[in-house]
Amino acid sequence: MVAVHSEFNGNVIEVAGLTRRFGAKAALVEVRLSVPRGTVFGLVGVNGAGKTTLIKHVLGLLKAATGSVRVFGQDPAADPAGVLVRVGYLSEEPELPGWMRVGELLRYTRAFYPNWDPKFAEELRQSFTIDPTAKVKHLSKGQRARVGLVLALAHRPELLVLDEPSSGLDPIVRRDILGAIIRTIAEEGRTVLFSSHLLHEVERVADRVALIDHGRVVFSGALDNIKETHHRLTLRFPEPRPHPPALAGALTWEGHGMEWAAVCAGQLDELKNAVDACGAQVVEQRVPSLDEIFVARVGPKCSERVKE
Ligand code: ATP
Repeated sequence: MVAVHSEFNGNVIEVAGLTRRFGAKAALVEVRLSVPRGTVFGLVGVNGAGKTTLIKHVLGLLKAATGSVRVFGQDPAADPAGVLVRVGYLSEEPELPGWMRVGELLRYTRAFYPNWDPKFAEELRQSFTIDPTAKVKHLSKGQRARVGLVLALAHRPELLVLDEPSSGLDPIVRRDILGAIIRTIAEEGRTVLFSSHLLHEVERVADRVALIDHGRVVFSGALDNIKETHHRLTLRFPEPRPHPPALAGALTWEGHGMEWAAVCAGQLDELKNAVDACGAQVVEQRVPSLDEIFVARVGPKCSERVKE
């Protein structure tokens, strides 16, 4: 594998104060994001949260009206070619020329990238079992995604950007995509930014995560740190309760009667002290999944999630 050599040593992506409006709609609000070199960065959020709009700014397809976007220290909207030659990009539904054969498309795309590695492209094509003589228009959605992935990876990009790469794809293609992400990071110094709804997949591969909701970054950080600072506690109360108590740090509640479970943010010691003060006992505690943290952070308010 080829290591990355670059004079640029700061964060690969640096977004500050980025606000984007489409008419009255604020798609991004004061977004701040830093993606360090060599990380796999997962951007998570529901449909319409603003993930694609953010990615479009990173790729220089949208120019920051308010705030700034830097990729490799450069403004991607001011110098798209200079930035994009170092970036591999795969969108949810890659637009590929249907009339071309796969082999022709690989040769054609190669012309745009000085660092294209034909041996690696061929390895990828074979591992994804794509027929080079097949016309793109005859490929299934999954096969097109695999071709898109070969095109995104074969020039050995310093930054790989994947926008919802696995939506609607079968588990085998998803596994290929995740395998490719992992292979990419295995190469020294390469960085991956990917957006996804599939939080268990994000959890498997991401080092860092940003949760975006209604255009705002709700939280962002190292996945390990996010997991360490969230807890799912099941509490037993001496008497049945119609509602859960006001517990500092509780983000969301589920339960009824004497047993209530909360996903909480904060230090475990402090949370347990707060539980004691409520007269309850912790009967179970575990690390919540990213999915549970996500729902707790952006889901409905506690009272609306209460199961009576
Ligand atoms: P999805 O997961 O569905 O792709 P997303 O998180 O990528 O969603 P965006 O596509 O970035 O979300 O959209 C954010 C918001 O901005 C949405 O409300 C969307 O309707 C709006 N939006 C995005 N692009 C445009 C546009 N060109 N014109 C008007 N509104 C837009």
